[in-house]
Amino acid sequence: MVPFIDLTRQYKAIEEEILSATKRVFEKGRFILGEEVSAFEEEFARYCGVRYGVGMNSGTDALYLALRAAGIGEGDEVVTVANSFIASALAISFAGAKPIFVDIEPETYNLDPNALEALLKRRRATGKRQRIKAILPVHLYGHPAQMDAIMEISHRYNLAVIEDACQAHGAKFNNKKVGSFGAMGCFSFYPTKNLGGSGDGGMVITDEKKLYEKLRLLRCYGEKKKYQHHLKGGNSRLDEIQASILRVKLKYLDRWNKERRKKASIYKDVLEGAGVICPVEKEWTRHVYHLFVIRSKKRDALQIFLKTKGIDTLIHYPTPIHLQKAYKELGYQRGDFPVTEKCSGEILSLPFFPELKDEEMEVVGKQIKDYFKGGRSR
Ligand SMILES: *Cc1c(COP(=O)(O)O)cnc(C)c1O
Repeated sequence: MVPFIDLTRQYKAIEEEILSATKRVFEKGRFILGEEVSAFEEEFARYCGVRYGVGMNSGTDALYLALRAAGIGEGDEVVTVANSFIASALAISFAGAKPIFVDIEPETYNLDPNALEALLKRRRATGKRQRIKAILPVHLYGHPAQMDAIMEISHRYNLAVIEDACQAHGAKFNNKKVGSFGAMGCFSFYPTKNLGGSGDGGMVITDEKKLYEKLRLLRCYGEKKKYQHHLKGGNSRLDEIQASILRVKLKYLDRWNKERRKKASIYKDVLEGAGVICPVEKEWTRHVYHLFVIRSKKRDALQIFLKTKGIDTLIHYPTPIHLQKAYKELGYQRGDFPVTEKCSGEILSLPFFPELKDEEMEVVGKQIKDYFKGGRSR
């Protein structure tokens, strides 16, 4: 049996630290917006190489409030990819704007800057009022999107960039942490993420004081001083218990990411010649392998076969966002994003987490090889 992920292994390794951190919060008796949240905001912002962090209740609200802080709203459009978790698009909808998708690069599964440029050129040629106001690139699976090209395009077309770094804590592009390129970077601390709490959590990071201040209002009723409400913010706060746990785990993030990279290279070795496509790490990037995603034309049958051998796998994601029922109103059709659609039919996420054992990876590798050796590939 190989589990897709087992969070108890991580907990056992740092149990005492986690319990003493939460105990500290209980003993202080302060659970909302206290010292743990502000300390964690500072520590995580510093980790990412920016000035400010605003703790949120989830990655989804981090994205949504980042868009609102950027002034995105009714009548605006935001460009993102259809090959992502649906929250990337939902956040745009919640802000009142419309998601516009572009296709991805087949190697990294991330936003294709050429497709972005082509879309913007097409739009400019129509001469209509430009409704596209922002780009929301996703650093999917832990691999950075091409931030040099994306930033360059954003400057030429005067668009805001808000990064969805929910799967890429600690990933780097040109030796700079993702989330620190655009006006704002958004993170999720959902339990299975590279930095995950014991419940929900998220953060927006930024270098701009104005955005920082607006984000703080937006996450807490628009409140500047007690009962003085300057704008219509909701309740999207990170809580003290989560922050205390995340502070402990942040100290281990680099170590865990290193483990992930080591494990990824072991998988690549054991899968050599197995007949599947392994993830790549492009030059100038540091991949943090949130997931280890392979590709095969025989994906569905392979997944069933592995299941019978006790190996759990998942698909991230089986239906691209433009083909989801929830986004019917956008009018997209199958065929609109050929690379995205082809990939979604072939990708398979193998069991992957820093505490995965070498023996477990060997079992996975052996079973995949056996599957294709059995002639089932044809
Ligand atoms: C996890 C995730 C989110 C949403 O984060 P939550 O904390 O679950 O709300 C958004 N985008 C991507 C790419 C994610 O992986």
